[in-house]
Amino acid sequence: MSAKKNIRAFSLTELKEYFESIGDKKFRAMQTYEWLWKKNARSFTEMSNLSMELRRKLSEEFELNSLTVDATQHSSDGTLKSRFKTYDGHLIEGVLIPTEKRFTACVSSQIGCSLSCKFCATGLMDRKRNLNFDEIYDQVALLNEQCEKTYGQKLSNIVYMGMGEPLLNYKNVLKSIDKITASDSMGMSPKRITVSTAGVAKMIKQLGDDKVRFNLALSLHAATDKKRNEIMPINETNSIEYLIEALNYFYQHTKNDITLEYVLLQGQNDSLVDAEELITVYRQIPVHLINVIEYNPVAGIPFIKSGEDTTQIFTDYLAKNRVNVRVRRSRGKDIDAACGQLANKDKILA
Ligand code: SAH
Repeated sequence: MSAKKNIRAFSLTELKEYFESIGDKKFRAMQTYEWLWKKNARSFTEMSNLSMELRRKLSEEFELNSLTVDATQHSSDGTLKSRFKTYDGHLIEGVLIPTEKRFTACVSSQIGCSLSCKFCATGLMDRKRNLNFDEIYDQVALLNEQCEKTYGQKLSNIVYMGMGEPLLNYKNVLKSIDKITASDSMGMSPKRITVSTAGVAKMIKQLGDDKVRFNLALSLHAATDKKRNEIMPINETNSIEYLIEALNYFYQHTKNDITLEYVLLQGQNDSLVDAEELITVYRQIPVHLINVIEYNPVAGIPFIKSGEDTTQIFTDYLAKNRVNVRVRRSRGKDIDAACGQLANKDKILA
C-alpha cells in the first residue's frame, strides 16, 4: 500500500486546512479543487497555475488514483464502449449511448459483481472490489469528454447500469452523484441520473431516508418469488413483497421516478400469465414506467431472447391494461456493449 493520500477524498475545507498547514495561501485550495473537479486533471503536472515546487510537493504527498482509458470500441449504431483501467490494474467498462434526443453514459459501480443473476455476463465474474467514488466520477468525466469529441455535445443522462450492484456500494455511489451534481463540479441535474438495482430492499429504504434526488430502476425480470428466485438469487433474501414495501417507502420520501426493468426471456417469463403477474406487482408500486428489455445473448448462458411476436403480444397486453410500457431495444450489440454483456472480453478489445 502506498502511503500517499488520495487528494480527491479531500473536501474544499480540508484542502484549505492543508494549504494553511504547509504555510501556503488558502486560495491555492480553490485552484487545486478546480483542477480536480472542474478541469478533471489527471496529474499534478497539469496544474499549471501552481508553482513547479508546489506541484512537486503535492505529487510527493498525494495521489490522484485516476482511471485511464485502456481501449474504446465503436458500434455501428454510434455506441462507444470503453474499457477503463484503475490505478491498481483492474479493468471496468463504461458505455456512451447516443440517441436522437439523449447522450447517455452507462457506468459501472463495482469491479465484477457478487450477485450471480443467471442471465447476466457480469454475474459470471467475481466481485473484485467496490469502485471508489472518484473512479465512478472519472467514468462520467471520460465519457463526457468522448461525447464532446465525437458528437460535440455534453452528456445529458447517466445510468448506473454497468458492472456491479450500485446499492452494495452505497456510499461511493451517493458520493459520486454528489460530485456529478455539484455546482462547483459537473453540475448535472439529479433528475437525469438513474440508479438501477437488482433489489436490495434495505438500501432502497435508505435512499428514501437520505432523501436522494435521482431516479431508481428495479431490475424485476420476474413477478413471482418462485420465478424470480430461479433467475436472481438475491430474491431469496429480498422478496417481491419486501421490495414493493421498500419502493413505496422510497417514493413517499423522495417522489422520484421509479422504473421497473423486465428482460424478456423465452419460455421463462414471457407468457400472458407472466404479464398478468407483472401487472399485479405494477399496481402495488408508484411506477413511472415499465421498460421491457430485449435480452442480449451471453456466451455460455442458456437463455434466449423472446421472439418479436411474443414481445409484441406481451407488451400489447400490458398497454391494454393501462400500463405505461416501453420496449428498450439494445444498443451496441455488435461490440457486446449492451446490458448484461459487460464482462471484459479481451478478444474484442484489440
Ligand atoms: N446490478 C444492477 C445494475 C446492472 S444494470 C441491476 O441489476 O439493476 C444492468 C441491467 O441489464 C439490469 O436490469 C440487468 O438485469 C439487465 N441485464 C443483465 N443481463 C442482461 C442481458 N444479457 N440482456 C439484457 N439485459 C440484461
